[in-house]
Amino acid sequence: MNEKVPDNKGHFGIYGGRFVPETLMPALIELEAAYRKYIKDTTFLEELRSLQKDFIGRPTPLYFAKNLTEKLGGAKIYLKREDLCHTGAHKINNALAQALLAKRMGKSRIIAETGAGQHGVATATGAALAGLECEIYMGSEDIRRQSLNVFRMRLLGARVSEVNVGSRTLKDAINEALRDWTTNVGHTHYVLGTAFGPHPYPVMVRNFQSVIGNEARKQILQVEKKLPDCLIACVGGGSNSIGLFFAFLKDNIRMIGVEAGGHGIASGEHAARFAGGSIGVFQGCKSYLLQDDDGNVLGTHSVSAGLDYASVGPEHSFLRDLKRIEYTYATDEEALKAFELLSRTEGIIPALESAHAVAEAAKTAPALPKDSVIIVNLSGRGDKDVQEVARIKGIEL
Ligand SMILES: *Cc1c(COP(=O)(O)O)cnc(C)c1O
Repeated sequence: MNEKVPDNKGHFGIYGGRFVPETLMPALIELEAAYRKYIKDTTFLEELRSLQKDFIGRPTPLYFAKNLTEKLGGAKIYLKREDLCHTGAHKINNALAQALLAKRMGKSRIIAETGAGQHGVATATGAALAGLECEIYMGSEDIRRQSLNVFRMRLLGARVSEVNVGSRTLKDAINEALRDWTTNVGHTHYVLGTAFGPHPYPVMVRNFQSVIGNEARKQILQVEKKLPDCLIACVGGGSNSIGLFFAFLKDNIRMIGVEAGGHGIASGEHAARFAGGSIGVFQGCKSYLLQDDDGNVLGTHSVSAGLDYASVGPEHSFLRDLKRIEYTYATDEEALKAFELLSRTEGIIPALESAHAVAEAAKTAPALPKDSVIIVNLSGRGDKDVQEVARIKGIEL
């Protein structure tokens, strides 16, 4: 890797870039300039560090899952506890940083898209803290499924706008947010929730999330006196995974990204872009995409809303081509089993997204020697998912 990645136009090899209408270009250029300025500004960084500590609760623990390790009978498993972040997942790392950046840019309003509502809640939280007006776009189908998170956002002072077009889910909410941004760019910043979209979002979100891996690297060196043998994280848009992996890219460590296998690849009902997708352009960037032969974006399925998206961050496509990161998937069934496994063995109910990573750890750990070390990124807590899991199991609450 001699050339600069991403390059000045946000290309990770052949991936990434800035595939947007002309009307959005000034906003992206303004954002990129502000990001480059403030990422070197000591007062900005000091404010961010202070809030990471006292508001988000960082550093999050690196927890040795002794019971799970014994049960699986192989490698030592450590959990990076992003589930203990304020608001319950890693999303706040990015949303808070972007809210602070928007404030520095002189914006009075932030907007965001959300699927399950986690990123919406995180953004509404950042807006409340920074004293910004906030509007969240959410598909009507997701509003129905996630009524508790909708109420949470409203409590935090955000306006939740229903998107009633297309499949009425995340991708339609992103389209609406981009449309709003085009119209209101003078006073509005768009807080994109993952390491995806037009440049500079993939690199900016990765850098705001890389606090996860920076902490984990120090923590594991302290307790184990060596680097881990393997890292595992689930991959939706790709922000919690690249957030953990980035600090270890220079090391010779196995890394596994876990996509949503839904009902299995053959069923067509999944969100495993690397298992069933091909290269395409979607919502501002070039990456792997689930599409048909005519380039129409396919519908996706996952038990976890946070992994249920047709494309994936461009840096992941790049690192996959380099064979630096391996990608696999866990099915709904495997994730649900892992959800219960971690709850019972460790007393930690994981988010269904994170349960995909736990499922992969359950496959990988037994084959490894007992002195080897795995870090699993526990991207979020499962409180948001208990109702859905009860429904799937046919239990009435
Ligand atoms: C949103 C979400 C994800 C997936 O998004 P990434 O950008 O791939 O990290 C994973 N876990 C949780 C808990 C989430 O809320």
